[in-house]
Amino acid sequence: SYESPSSSRELFTVNSPNVVYRDDEVLSKYTYRTTTVTKDASTGQYIATPTETRYDFRVDRRIPKVGVMLVGWGGNNGTTVTAGLLANRRGLVWDTREGPRAANYYGSLVMGSTMKLGIDAEHRDVNIPLHNVLPMVHPNDLMVGGWDISNMNLAEAMDRAAVLQPTLKMQLKKEMAQMVPLPSIYYPDFIASNQSGRANHVLPGDRACMAHVDQIRKDIRSDFKSANNLDKVVVLWTANTERYADIVAGINDTADNLLEAITQGHKEIAPSTIFAVASILEKTPFINGSPQNTFVPGAIDLAQKHGVFIGGDDFKSGQTKMKSALVEFLINAGIKLVSIASYNHLGNNDGRNLSEQKQFRSKEISKSNVVDDMVEANTILYKEGEHPDHTVVIKYMPAVGDDKRALDEYYAEIFLGGHQTISIFNVCEDSLLASPLIIDLVLITEMMTRIQWRSSSSNDLESTIPYESFHSVLSILSYMLKAPLTPPGTPVVNALGKQRAALINIFRACVGLEPESDLALEHRLF
Ligand code: NAD
Repeated sequence: SYESPSSSRELFTVNSPNVVYRDDEVLSKYTYRTTTVTKDASTGQYIATPTETRYDFRVDRRIPKVGVMLVGWGGNNGTTVTAGLLANRRGLVWDTREGPRAANYYGSLVMGSTMKLGIDAEHRDVNIPLHNVLPMVHPNDLMVGGWDISNMNLAEAMDRAAVLQPTLKMQLKKEMAQMVPLPSIYYPDFIASNQSGRANHVLPGDRACMAHVDQIRKDIRSDFKSANNLDKVVVLWTANTERYADIVAGINDTADNLLEAITQGHKEIAPSTIFAVASILEKTPFINGSPQNTFVPGAIDLAQKHGVFIGGDDFKSGQTKMKSALVEFLINAGIKLVSIASYNHLGNNDGRNLSEQKQFRSKEISKSNVVDDMVEANTILYKEGEHPDHTVVIKYMPAVGDDKRALDEYYAEIFLGGHQTISIFNVCEDSLLASPLIIDLVLITEMMTRIQWRSSSSNDLESTIPYESFHSVLSILSYMLKAPLTPPGTPVVNALGKQRAALINIFRACVGLEPESDLALEHRLF
């Protein structure tokens, strides 16, 4: 007797001449206000000019039936997110040593956080769940499927992961035992050799070929989408971290070269890139939750050519999330951070895979550049090219399992040569932090497929100028990702607060609402 929560009514409507509601869509006229800065050549002084650009947005209000296919479904994240979705859908309650616990979506930005919609007549903030700013899919309604190179059903795989409480697992076991991943692609050269014992469920062939692309396309289209009567599918990589692929001219640098290299069976094409290519060709968004360079230039080019959304890389769940919040705070407070030492040890299969040098290197790269934008923005503290020292160490320690330890020391220079040292010991229950991010990535990506824009020069919302989608590279997902992929040539924002504000304000703009500025003049001018 499951009743879809998505049938609940929209929480608000926008009362504005610039916003029109129709049965199937919301249309809005939006003025984007920003400031253009130039420099006077003779005086060297900046000139700041307020500018306005007008856009129309169209949001499809019809909530589709959506499925997510996870690559690495039988892993710690794959099993944990699946269990979490089922537990929420069934409203499960289970016993723990601290008493009963009920299913929730804590740790999901979309499902667990709120945003200020506006103020009421008494000037008090009115906050609403982020989930309600636009007509988003409810995660309880998501269908889950996917692939793994290990043939374990999801109940056994959940036991192998050793993440969830036995009292919760007991209630999910029967349903999850019915879920078996589809066989996957395994090119041993790309993940650690210590994973070979797991690879008992693989498609024939150990290097790229079109047969693999075609099989994955068929899996998405027939085995999952049609079989479950879905309107839309999102594919997300939460399989092992691969080594970096070399970028080779003529091989993976353009869409055409990449497709040709796959046909020729080139050895520098990673399994994750095959999944990305197959998804793009199926017009299915693809998100990469691991650090490797799945999105070689040819894959980005292919996504743009087909107008399909892609997003990545590497979930920002524990240590890096803290880092991108703390460093934003320190540098914005005018404190000169001079070094960051980050040590991790973890004992899950991810840690085991990362214990080999090439896979560790992928993680090291994605963890290393995460403060660059904040450092570059503060020219008082840092001269051009100057950076804090930054070291990242990851060690495999089987005993701690999924409870990753992240030890960080932030060392900063303060007023008149003094120092501030902040040490953080962060026990990240890794898969419990990553799973809600998977949900956010899927919900936001799906929502973006129902938002369109056009430049607007008239006041006429009925104009026939065609609408377009956002750029194929979904930088709006940056909050959830350690090394955010952005449209080629555009800046990367790592600062957590900025990432959240961008997401909320873009969603507000889509229904004709101004950005939340925190000016709160009503509390200051009276
Ligand atoms: P895991 O090792 O438990 O799961 C990975 C799964 O992928 C395994 O079941 C494995 O059999 C499967 N696999 C490997 N290669 C495959 C392929 N080619 N096709 C299909 N399946 C394949 O790891 P996890 O803890 O679930 O993490 C998954 C990924 O997410 C890792 O790359 C990790 O670095 C990344 N990540 C995790 C976190 C987090 O958990 N907090 C944060 C950031 C990034």
